[in-house]
Amino acid sequence: MNRTGIYPGTFDPPHNGHRDIIGRALRLVDHLVIGVAVNDAKGPVFTLDERVALVEAEARDLAAAIPGHATIRVQPFKGLLVDLAKSAGAQVIIRGLRSSTDYDYERQMVGMNSRMAPGVETIFLTADAQYQAITGTLVREIARMGGDITPFVSPAVAQAIAKKLAKG
Ligand code: ADP
Repeated sequence: MNRTGIYPGTFDPPHNGHRDIIGRALRLVDHLVIGVAVNDAKGPVFTLDERVALVEAEARDLAAAIPGHATIRVQPFKGLLVDLAKSAGAQVIIRGLRSSTDYDYERQMVGMNSRMAPGVETIFLTADAQYQAITGTLVREIARMGGDITPFVSPAVAQAIAKKLAKG
């Protein structure tokens, strides 16, 4: 079966928790669509275009180490995830689970999404213990306060954040 999976998120910035899920997803499906949500509500550091470019670079970097990995498309999206899933012809939505709070929220989403798009399954990949505490919000806050974010993001992303914040 030719399986397409969607991994959606804000990716502001893409961090090591996201990298872990992308790497694992690349082994699970034949085609991986990474949906980068517009989401202005979280006080973004990076514009949508910048986030798409960063995620593309991260995914390329990860794929280089995975023989026979899925094809990758990074796509901005606005609106309902189920609409993105339908337009991409996806059979699965892939989500990372960090905590029981994530789980409670995700359960509701699955309940609604499965009504709107029957046949599109959501699969959860539990966060790796070493990445479990990482969130985009915390990475942004630490960076804005001048802290060291290198344990949480790739060197490329750390550099991009430093450059962005230096510009104001
Ligand atoms: P964040 O909450 O870090 O800003 P996103 O909203 O972009 O991240 O989340 C996109 C997806 O990645 C979600 O499914 C989320 O649960 C998952 N995810 C986020 N952080 C991690 C992590 N540290 N480990 C595993 N999955 C994660």
